[in-house]
Amino acid sequence: MCGIFAYHGQDSAVDQVVTGLKRLEYRGYDSWGVAVATNQELSVFKQVGKVTQVADEAELGLPKGQIAIGHTRWATHGGVTQANAHPHLASDSSFALAQNGVVENFDTLKAAQLQAGENFKSETDTEVIVKLIEAERQAGKDLLTAVRAAHQKLSGRNTIILITPDGEIIAARQGSPLVIGFGNSEGEVFVSSDVLSFATQVKEVVTVDNGQVVQVSPAGEVQLFDLKSGAKLEIKREPLQLDQPKIDKEGYEHFMLKEIHETPVVIRQVSTQPIDRLTQAAELIKQAHSVYTIGSGTAGMAAAQIAYYLRSVAKVPAVSLVGADANEYLELFTPEDVLIAPSQSGETADVLEILEQAKELGVKIISYVNMPASSMTKLADLSFLAGAGPEICVMSTKVFTSQIAWGYLLAKAVAGQTADGQAALAAVADSVQAYLEDSTAMTQLSNLAQQLSGAKDIFLMAKGQLFQVMREGMVKLIEGSYKHAHAIPAGDLKHYAITLMEAGVPVLVAVADDAVRSDVLNAAHEVKTRGATVIGLSAQAEASFDSTIVMPVSGETAAIALVVPVQLLAYHLAVVLGNDVDHPRNIAKSVTVK
Ligand code: GLU
Repeated sequence: MCGIFAYHGQDSAVDQVVTGLKRLEYRGYDSWGVAVATNQELSVFKQVGKVTQVADEAELGLPKGQIAIGHTRWATHGGVTQANAHPHLASDSSFALAQNGVVENFDTLKAAQLQAGENFKSETDTEVIVKLIEAERQAGKDLLTAVRAAHQKLSGRNTIILITPDGEIIAARQGSPLVIGFGNSEGEVFVSSDVLSFATQVKEVVTVDNGQVVQVSPAGEVQLFDLKSGAKLEIKREPLQLDQPKIDKEGYEHFMLKEIHETPVVIRQVSTQPIDRLTQAAELIKQAHSVYTIGSGTAGMAAAQIAYYLRSVAKVPAVSLVGADANEYLELFTPEDVLIAPSQSGETADVLEILEQAKELGVKIISYVNMPASSMTKLADLSFLAGAGPEICVMSTKVFTSQIAWGYLLAKAVAGQTADGQAALAAVADSVQAYLEDSTAMTQLSNLAQQLSGAKDIFLMAKGQLFQVMREGMVKLIEGSYKHAHAIPAGDLKHYAITLMEAGVPVLVAVADDAVRSDVLNAAHEVKTRGATVIGLSAQAEASFDSTIVMPVSGETAAIALVVPVQLLAYHLAVVLGNDVDHPRNIAKSVTVK
């Protein structure tokens, strides 16, 4: 969560930081702020709302310095107010600080500071860090040592950045990512949460690791230190190897729509995963004592589908875990186990925490991540990159599909059928492409969204291979429409959820040509009998469907195709309801806080 961006160079630092923050907004967008150093003074501007609403940086009324830091916030402690927005100034204005994370011992630290007579201008945990640094400074430490000492007192995952009036920048990483970019012009330095935010302006980068602190002197000299010991570390600049990423809607109205339309390319991309690596992963899985998959939110749904493929295709009894609830497994893990982690960002805090502890126990980790150079990729014994390109919409679509397509191929590799798996993925990519190019099908989805716009609750129902993607459909509907959606395992309907079926309730029912088809169709009859409106997702219409989203779903890959119309339905519903499609309220894309 939250984006940090800093600039030191010849250009207008405020312009640079505001542009950088706009690119980081997917990480948090409830409020934002900038602090700029000019003439031995710090000027701070903070605002509630989105930084993308700023058309001209001159509106901020900030002086045109050449050194500045900025932050987009995803509030954890304290409401969304101007006072709580970052950066936070020290009491004597000797620095301004922004934080990405949560100070888990906030209550204890703040109680002690209040006791000591400190006054707070905000409700944030961030200001507690400011006070800790001030106290270390008062004890006579230089700024860098004070930052390091204060950071040792924090529990949780906290990445911080600060700027002084004379233009020194210090940033410490523990948890959320930090990367340094060396600009195209001499002496130009960027520090940011995400390399994509400055990719077009730098030629070399250095990823700051956990437990490291970077210092950019007022003259622009960059140094790296160990956060704990203070030892100076070597800076190994690496050329930026990123194809010029296109962060552009390319004519689509929203990033979400554009990204769903990239699905066929993304599925084909999965087939190009290095075969030797897939084989190595398959071997690890075959030799494992227990195999787990893990994820949070949409990646959690993908983890469940990957576990399904491992069970059904590869006959491996894989179990899927939810990131935030996996702690109980820490006592069960053995060095013979394998943990498979799909993730868009590779930075999801609750998953990372489990992975770090599992690794210490000797568990082998396989990651499948979209963002390059992420913490999960570094941690993994075997890492795969999705290569799906930037996913800007906060709601994940193409990356989810990429994750389950990869999970399918992995299961096929375990079953010794990699080539079959690749052929099946090529076929499903073609079906999805044909579907997306079918304007009648697209119009049907926007009409259906119109129809659903008045519903209070939306139900989704499936069984077996399609159930997890209907759960993901539920996630998309909730994220995009802010309506209540509920995925029901078709077989469990009569045990509880049938009480909710009454006249007019919309129920999306997904079926494929598999062994559970008739079970699901029976459940569809049962809800229709009670007055529900049944919208089928199927290769053909059925008697129990009031209307049918016709999607050529067949064989083992049905789920990979079928998730696409559900994502599109969620998209159109968000549009019809006038919601902010690419930035749904209250959520952020990369959940780097617990
Ligand atoms: N915990 C801090 C706050 O609530 C930082 C949250 C963030 O990472 O944006 O302000």
